Amino acid sequence: MAEEPKETKPGFQNPVAGFGVTFKAMFKKRLTEQYPEQQKTTAPRFHGRHQLNRHPDGLEKCIGCELCAWACPADAIYVEGADNTDEERYSPGERYGRVYQINYARCILCGLCIEACPTRALTMTNEFELADSSRANLIYTKEQLLAGLDEGMVDTPHSIFPGTDEQDYYRGLVTEAAPGTERQVAVSKGEKPTEEGVGA
Ligand code: SF4
Ligand code: SF4
Repeated sequence: MAEEPKETKPGFQNPVAGFGVTFKAMFKKRLTEQYPEQQKTTAPRFHGRHQLNRHPDGLEKCIGCELCAWACPADAIYVEGADNTDEERYSPGERYGRVYQINYARCILCGLCIEACPTRALTMTNEFELADSSRANLIYTKEQLLAGLDEGMVDTPHSIFPGTDEQDYYRGLVTEAAPGTERQVAVSKGEKPTEEGVGA
């Protein structure tokens, strides 16, 4: 015959014991964060939204090799590489990333992709506000991921720094765009040459 469960407290005390937990919690330090009114500073190496970096003259570091896509355990990265030409150059070497997408509906922000990148083109920022109600909006394009232009940079496409080669970029010998560097016409993106030289 099954043993009767022991009653630890008299029946009338049980509801009061429950309030005891509430009462004790009232004097503990509150963990509530007033987000988004108060933004919390992340750790310096926090894994946030990715960024595609540029060389100091504005050329892109991505060479379209797809190593990041192969390293990704969530299959969140899509890359299509293409050849640079002298008339339309996006990176110092032979190839560049023509299409680059990261699907943040899949990404688990593990950082394996940035470890795999041979050119340090791909890094992660501290930005964490990635939520959205649309799946389409969660697919970030190259244009969204590409770093902005710092002083001394010219937007791509543009020619390589005169007298240098790809290796010089990685040796840190190119520190800014050469004087007179102008953005080329992005014919592959449908731009047309204008009188000023750059398409609309
Ligand atoms: S952080 Fe991880 S899951 Fe996200 S794209 Fe990179 S490798 Fe894939
Ligand atoms: S981000 Fe890096 S690993 Fe990915 S395609 Fe570009 S160069 Fe290759």
